[in-house]
Amino acid sequence: MTASPQFDVIVVGGGPVGTTTALKLAKRGMTVALFEKREASTLEHRASTFHPPTLEMLEELGLSQPLIEAGIIARSYQFRDATIGKIVELDFAVLDDDTAYPYRVQVEQSRLTAAAQQVIADEPNVTSTLGAEVIAIREDDEGFEVDVRGEGGEVTTATSTYLVAADGSRSIVREHYDIDFSGHTYPERYLVITTSLPLHEIHEDLAVVNYVADPENWHVLLRNPSGWRVLFPCDPALTTEQQTDPAYVVSQLRRVVPELDGYPVVHVTVYEVHRKVAQTFRKGNVFLVGDAAHVNNPLGGMGMNSGIHDGLLLAELLPGYANGEISSEALDDWAEKRRAVARHYVGEETEGNWNALRDTSEERRAAKRAEWEALGRDETARRQFLLTSSMLASVR
Ligand SMILES: Cc1cc2nc3c(=O)[nH]c(=O)nc-3n(C[C@H](O)[C@H](O)[C@H](O)COP(=O)(O)OP(=O)(O)OC[C@H]3O[C@@H](n4cnc5c(N)ncnc54)[C@H](O)[C@@H]3O)c2cc1C
Repeated sequence: MTASPQFDVIVVGGGPVGTTTALKLAKRGMTVALFEKREASTLEHRASTFHPPTLEMLEELGLSQPLIEAGIIARSYQFRDATIGKIVELDFAVLDDDTAYPYRVQVEQSRLTAAAQQVIADEPNVTSTLGAEVIAIREDDEGFEVDVRGEGGEVTTATSTYLVAADGSRSIVREHYDIDFSGHTYPERYLVITTSLPLHEIHEDLAVVNYVADPENWHVLLRNPSGWRVLFPCDPALTTEQQTDPAYVVSQLRRVVPELDGYPVVHVTVYEVHRKVAQTFRKGNVFLVGDAAHVNNPLGGMGMNSGIHDGLLLAELLPGYANGEISSEALDDWAEKRRAVARHYVGEETEGNWNALRDTSEERRAAKRAEWEALGRDETARRQFLLTSSMLASVR
């Protein structure tokens, strides 16, 4: 690279993590180029739970209010048993003194991405380009040079001092730097069905978010603005075509509502689920955030939330580091702490939820039910439990 870099930071990937990180870096005075390979934001049936600390962090970017307005507020959530019904309903009111947002907001992640892009449009420090795929990265003493392929196939080059990888689980940046991303893949895939059935009218005692335990038929019921979302584990012996076959989809919905003639299905997807964490979240002036750095199962709704925390906490430090006010050790500390959260907090919480929902031992299932019931009776224990499940404990 001959001239000085055009931007302080290049952010690769304009999902929920990349857009919010770019915006915060810009608001803290850095110039940012944000490249997103998709041409437009589409409704994504992936993350839909926004936890209290995420709403707190998004507030200064002007993004928590739009989510609250577009979403459904979950002031409680339930643990249920497929045979018995409701075991406990955990009310977030117990967190009233801990956060200004004692609830979850249920809304599709693409609402956040779209709202962030709207704010970015008025933010002079960010140059955001859609339909722009980063295809090559070079680094020298001056910084980074990335090649970007535009919608028409033309390739341009952008330069920066820092590089943030927010390009998802198949990160080209992580691959370029040969950063190990090992872990495991869960045995079953997840079938995610969005239905316009009014499940809250059919089963009147449901909360907005419900985790339903059963050795064979565990599932999750979440109410989103686009409908009820039902997540089931699929039989691993079936092909994707069989798992998404309308007859199979209806057979799964029948487990939730057995007696209907028609089952209106809005959307169906099948996901493979992994638990993987990158070997490091920092390599010099390259930073990995979000799914580029860690992936986990969606039970507990923590992947995107922790990714947003990675990026927004990094954006607290990077401007100071660039000005010489913050040491390199502070960035190493960020990388280690965020990696520890991904491995030991998000990884173990979500795996714990998976184990609790699918357990086949009647003795352990009874013990888990007793544990959940006790949370309903004991306010102190309930507050501690909710501080963890709402992710407040991961950032305090
Ligand atoms: C069924 C399901 C339910 C989930 N529910 C929840 C939940 O409730 N709560 C939660 O916290 N998490 C949840 N998750 C996880 C959540 O969806 C992810 O953690 C989240 O999308 C990660 O955001 P990200 O911005 O890091 O990555 P992504 O959302 O994957 O965004 C990466 C972006 O980078 C772009 N990109 C990739 N490569 C390039 C390139 N070379 N150049 C330019 N752009 C590029 C992609 O197009 C994409 O837009 C769920 C996941 C699944 C599968």
